[in-house]
Amino acid sequence: MATVALSSIAKSFGSTRVLGGVDLDIADGEFLTLVGPSGCGKSTLIRIIAGLEHQDAGGVAIGGAPVDHLRPHERRVAMVFQSYALYPHMTVRANIGLPLTMSRLRLWQRLPLLRLLSAQRRRVMRYIDADVAAVAGQLQLDHLLDRKPAQLSGGQRQRVALGRAMVRSPEVFLMDEPLSNLDAKLRVHMRTELAELHKRLGATFIYVTHDQVEAMTMSDRVAMMDAGSILQLGAPSELYERPASLKVAQFIGSPA
Ligand code: ADP
Ligand code: MG
Repeated sequence: MATVALSSIAKSFGSTRVLGGVDLDIADGEFLTLVGPSGCGKSTLIRIIAGLEHQDAGGVAIGGAPVDHLRPHERRVAMVFQSYALYPHMTVRANIGLPLTMSRLRLWQRLPLLRLLSAQRRRVMRYIDADVAAVAGQLQLDHLLDRKPAQLSGGQRQRVALGRAMVRSPEVFLMDEPLSNLDAKLRVHMRTELAELHKRLGATFIYVTHDQVEAMTMSDRVAMMDAGSILQLGAPSELYERPASLKVAQFIGSPA
């Protein structure tokens, strides 16, 4: 069960209050989108869920268990960034497999003996390659595994970033404006792909965008944020038909 529960999450940077006590319960397998104007705290909130940032107050629980003491790789989440965050000197294969390689390295550091067992190491590398191949197949990247990011199109790079998130089979995907670097046509195409991926994986998706069309077409529910708090939370049709305030109506584009 990968529910995500946020209770009274507050965060300031210096004297600037960025999140003012956010409560949000996300269901297992839900596609929840955070929307809102630039600077309203969307990235900060999702980074707190990922463990990349720590809240000043409040708590995060994943699958019913508090995760505030867990480091990012210990949480059952994977994050996809707008900038792709791929390593330019590494192949697609190595980029996708990186989380697995990293967790192996951590194991090797804990168990120095294992470092000596190169046969063992080769076998683990083969497992990793098999996992990477499986993910690459799902994302139609099979034929690109030996390329470097510079040799890929924007859409392919975004798929590699998705692959890197998928390879650990996380229960929660956190996506921070993953499509915003793509051109309009590709963005529309990737919208459909993401929605299909969500259905196929059955994982919980928390998706950040400032694009209301993305929010309205892909999500089970939308949380509209402004200035560090949630103005309205509901199904896309609810926000559209019954906006709780003028701000929501304007952002969503409801008829006046
Ligand atoms: P959004 O993703 O909705 O555009 P962010 O969460 O990135 O908003 O940022 C919210 C506010 O917090 C902004 O005013 C931003 O400048 C500020 N902020 C974000 N990260 C930091 C940081 N590491 N240090 C200082 N201020 C930050
Ligand atoms: Mg942001």
